[in-house]
Amino acid sequence: MKKIIIIGAGGVGHVVAHKCAQLAEVFPEILLASRTESKCVDIAKHVLQQYGRTIKTAQVDADDVSDLVRLFDNYKPFMVINVALPYQDLTIMDACLEMGVHYLDTANYEPLDTAKFEYKWQWAYQERFKQAGLMALLGSGFDPGATNMFTAFAAKHYFDEIHELDIIDVNGGDHGYPFATNFNPEINIREVTAECRHWENDKFITTPAMSEMQSFTCPDEVGTYNIYRMYHEELESLTKHYPSLKKAQFWMSFGDSYLKHLEILGNVGMTSIEPVKFNGQDIVPIQFLKQLLPDPASLGPRTHGKTCIGCLVRGIKDGKKTTVYIYNVKDHQDCYKEVKSQGISYTTGVPTMIGAKMMMTGVWQQPGVWNIEQMDPDPFMADLNEYGLPFQVIENPDFKLI
Ligand code: NDP
Repeated sequence: MKKIIIIGAGGVGHVVAHKCAQLAEVFPEILLASRTESKCVDIAKHVLQQYGRTIKTAQVDADDVSDLVRLFDNYKPFMVINVALPYQDLTIMDACLEMGVHYLDTANYEPLDTAKFEYKWQWAYQERFKQAGLMALLGSGFDPGATNMFTAFAAKHYFDEIHELDIIDVNGGDHGYPFATNFNPEINIREVTAECRHWENDKFITTPAMSEMQSFTCPDEVGTYNIYRMYHEELESLTKHYPSLKKAQFWMSFGDSYLKHLEILGNVGMTSIEPVKFNGQDIVPIQFLKQLLPDPASLGPRTHGKTCIGCLVRGIKDGKKTTVYIYNVKDHQDCYKEVKSQGISYTTGVPTMIGAKMMMTGVWQQPGVWNIEQMDPDPFMADLNEYGLPFQVIENPDFKLI
């Protein structure tokens, strides 16, 4: 029987555990492990109440390869789903290689002391995974994840060649707090305050964070939002795997209150990752800030509104210019009703479960390190429809984007 370990018991881990538990035929045995085991136990209790399934729990320090090896050796999993933090990607991949375990994650590696997320560290594992006959699937969340699949699906079915890509991530949800983040605050703030990079004419162009903004009206009456251009990791892999792309940009919506707080916190140094001495102790301001902010996993009951995340792809089909927009709209409260979670953890956790399902069932099984868009998008897209994130396609929409 193929066993799975989920590492990380935060907002995303909660959803992944629930979605995997819904599919006993694919995930017959689940172990949820994290730094704080009590969080795993709480999730396991809820899974038992909701689905009558027992999932095991364990404590693990995923920064420590030997601790991971001990866990893998005891449980003997077929694969591990990494929904801890990006800092743990490489230690978990090392433990997978040592113990012959397949690997999946949702965010690329980022060193703790440098806010620079890049695939180069994980791509460097390609030969070792290949030689070990193991698969590592990178970026199986929503963005990256579903957005890579939307792009691959568009390229496969609607174009001969794709030329321009705009990934547009709108969160129209309101949790009622003046400032909170929908996933791990430290990772979120590091991502949002990073310099913007977008792809144009065969290279990345750097511009100041949040310096490009436009208004975007979502379909299906989700609303009109200000979206800001920022760097997001899937731009790196998609421009590599689709070399016909001449331009690729990522846009995300932010409310005025979020941006105002972020600016002030940045101005006073609270978003810095450099340690400062306080009462004789070293503290990292952004880590202290995380302690003060609402836990993203607690936002579920109070978040109302919808997410609308999609890809606008332009290119050529049969010699003619064409445009396609592929997207998903998800209601935060529907997510809460189903798995007691807000929509951002849900939209991440469902594609995570689907990526793992593809690997567990052998639909996607190839040794090496792969970004998700290198896999066939069709079975994944069919499962999005099946497991809670149905997608829509609009051909030649009349959006006017920069
Ligand atoms: P949370 O902070 O809510 O959860 C992270 C979990 O990882 C916590 O349970 C934490 O333990 C655990 N953890 C942290 N360090 C370690 C360690 N050294 N050993 C073991 N466990 C550890 O984050 P989220 O659930 O919001 O996000 C999880 C991941 O998903 C992140 O990597 C994030 O970047 C990614 N993500 C991806 C998205 C996508 O669309 N691709 C979107 C949103 C998130 P403890 O409880 O003790 O702190």
